Amino acid sequence: MLKVAKFGGSSMADAGQYKKIRDILLSDPSRRVVVVSAAGKRNKNDHKITDLLYLCHAHTQYGVDCTAVFEMITSRYLDIRNELNISLDLESEFAALKQRLDAKAVTQDELASRGEYFSAKLMAAYLGFRFIDAVEWIKFNLDGTVDQETSYEALQNLVLQGQGAVIPGFYGLMPDGHIRTFTRGGSDITGSLAAAALNADVYENWTDVSGILMADPRIVDDPQAIPEVTYDELRELSYSGAQVLHEGTIFPVREKNIPLNIRNTNAPEDKGTMIREKFDTPADPDRFITGITGKKDFTILSMSKRGMGNQVGVLRKVLSVLERHNISVDYVPNGIDNVSVVMPTEAIAPHLYTILGEIQQDVEPDSLDVHDQIAVIAAVGRHMTFRPGVSGRLFAALGEAGINIRMINQGPDELNIIFGVDNRDFKAAIRVLYNSFVK
Ligand code: ASP
Repeated sequence: MLKVAKFGGSSMADAGQYKKIRDILLSDPSRRVVVVSAAGKRNKNDHKITDLLYLCHAHTQYGVDCTAVFEMITSRYLDIRNELNISLDLESEFAALKQRLDAKAVTQDELASRGEYFSAKLMAAYLGFRFIDAVEWIKFNLDGTVDQETSYEALQNLVLQGQGAVIPGFYGLMPDGHIRTFTRGGSDITGSLAAAALNADVYENWTDVSGILMADPRIVDDPQAIPEVTYDELRELSYSGAQVLHEGTIFPVREKNIPLNIRNTNAPEDKGTMIREKFDTPADPDRFITGITGKKDFTILSMSKRGMGNQVGVLRKVLSVLERHNISVDYVPNGIDNVSVVMPTEAIAPHLYTILGEIQQDVEPDSLDVHDQIAVIAAVGRHMTFRPGVSGRLFAALGEAGINIRMINQGPDELNIIFGVDNRDFKAAIRVLYNSFVK
């Protein structure tokens, strides 16, 4: 049994968190491969080390001395080391790095990667595990994608049977020998790649919440965590607004059918959320909504034209106009002689009047209306499939609460019910759904 355990920034923030991680690892010896983030915030007003590293790089680019920021970074690591009595010489590495930084010899990616690098060095020394640098195995192709085959093989050769290893997340090596980072939050991807490379039994992603929550805790008080979610549901939830994992995380583990378990470093007894391709038995058969999520600020363009229902190519013409402006359409609800297209306001706003003119010209609709300030909400759940009455209950609950529905969309796979409301009803709609389906 092998578990790859990735610990995020808040789990790595200070010496107290390092102790929690050690306890988590000691409680299950199959957690032998550990991937770590840079130290995150210790409290709301604190800074993430990665942010400070980017700041430091910007300073040097503008010829501004970054010594003060650099010291904030180094003292975070030295404090952890000293508090935990780890014997590791960090000072000389810091000094060498600073010297190269002052000489403008460190790229932005290399500097940003040092947060994870020092985290992993410290954690490896603390646990008595082997430090495996990401540059030794994560190899990027020239186009910035990961060369999975080479990377996997390299890691398989580095991780030894029965020996614990700590790996820094977030970066790897380009073919020219330069360090390259993933986009922000990318240590999740490193963990997923490590789990896939080693054919782990589980990829555990340890963070500071007890799993993916059924709704946004800024909207719903103390929402429950989702015990089990499929990859498809997760895709729906993240697309519609839930911020869970870095988007590149799923692919490597999904490809190898490795379950992904989101856990809480601060509450290790909680089971968290288990993500799999599919589950044989539903955890709770009465619960058909897995999660509720949504985003504000969409625009709906609605047009009608007598006889549209029998004409060929109308929808294509509308979509072509949007395509010319490089706008990706999220939903296309339609009636017989009318069709609407829904997309983020941010995407259409800069071209709105040109687009309206082009649609007018190409489609010649009888009416063309713009509705903005629309929020799109998705109720996602694999147990909705083939269950009559779910949408009836859902819309009845919204109706009772006096919330007007502006748009409805349900995919034929019945994995979600998507609807639009006015921006101002966004939070109320999510609360109504949560309270009527979850509590
Ligand atoms: N430390 C990096 C960031 O803050 C990567 C990560 O934590 O996943 O984005």
